[in-house]
Amino acid sequence: NISAERPAIRQLDEAAINRIAAGEVVERPASAVKELVENALDAGARRVEVTIADGGKTLIRVADDGHGIAAGDLPLALSRHATSKIDGTDLLNIHSFGFRGEALPSLGAVGRLTITSRVAGDAAAEIAVSGGTIAPVKPAALSAGTVVELRDLFYATPARLKFLRSNRAETQAITDVVKRLAMAEPGVGFTLRDTSGGGEGRVTFRAEPETGDMFDALRGRLTRIMGREFTENALPIDATREGFTLTGFAALPTYSRGAAVAQFFFVNGRPVRDKQLIGALRGAYADFLSRDRHPAAALFLTCDPHLVDVNVHPAKSEVRFREPGIVRGLIVSTLRHALAGAGHRASTTVAQ
Ligand code: ADP
Ligand code: MG
Repeated sequence: NISAERPAIRQLDEAAINRIAAGEVVERPASAVKELVENALDAGARRVEVTIADGGKTLIRVADDGHGIAAGDLPLALSRHATSKIDGTDLLNIHSFGFRGEALPSLGAVGRLTITSRVAGDAAAEIAVSGGTIAPVKPAALSAGTVVELRDLFYATPARLKFLRSNRAETQAITDVVKRLAMAEPGVGFTLRDTSGGGEGRVTFRAEPETGDMFDALRGRLTRIMGREFTENALPIDATREGFTLTGFAALPTYSRGAAVAQFFFVNGRPVRDKQLIGALRGAYADFLSRDRHPAAALFLTCDPHLVDVNVHPAKSEVRFREPGIVRGLIVSTLRHALAGAGHRASTTVAQ
């Protein structure tokens, strides 16, 4: 039905632009939870409380005790490409979860969003935006930190609403997101509460802040999330090569799984799903596991931010390494060495 008349080119308004961007940034309720919890962590929160109802479809609330947003900055937090995290000069030098300044304006375009925040020494204030329409900042009551509440996600985009899965499936996806971020930040306390059906609801996940050195804290947090059986059957990993450091825990082959459900990767503190990293893990265990078994591991790769590009996709769960060969080599050789060492110790014990 294309008319012969040439349509004029026109600039889309901000609300339309935000709705389009939201399609990439917020695929489902779990993506909104990810963005909001990441914002809390970027604000230096020591405690993050997530409350959801109906799989996040009717309510997502993230409360933190971070540094807050000044009342005068609230409208800016909702404006597109406005961020306090980078100055735009070096897009490869990223030390925060966020940097694109897209999450809040996108969420405000596809749901009813209220941000209440308080900076130490100031009064609390709130701003609300619904379907892209921003209300003026007004005084609010809050003792500290920030509370972001998102109601009726996708009410403004019914097509997207139809693609959501059952409340149960969406709740599961949210739980996975919260657990992954909790693995990335063992020093931070997390709670996930489900208030479907009204009232106080019930806590479905809780992790107290872990203390001790990095390995102790990580072991504690992984025990909480992956289970004691995992940490008791896992080898601590710590190796460095050519600017890349690999730490974490990798399970003994005897603790393998029938599906690849217990494989977690983090790059510079960010949870990622990356085919190359999964492939390297598989390669490392190739001599120790039959093909139908899958290793269990939580591995943290750190490097100079210039060696990895996290700006591949708006959700930032994909990364691109400058030197993929070094990364693969580090993972394969470190894990092989650790597994062979464990096997050696096991057999010498038997021999004694
Ligand atoms: P980005 O995280 O990429 O900067 P967002 O749209 O997620 O973009 O957030 C915009 C800005 O709002 C952030 O840069 C930050 O300054 C502020 N902000 C958002 N959430 C919080 C929070 N929980 N605590 C403090 N500041 C926040
Ligand atoms: Mg953000």
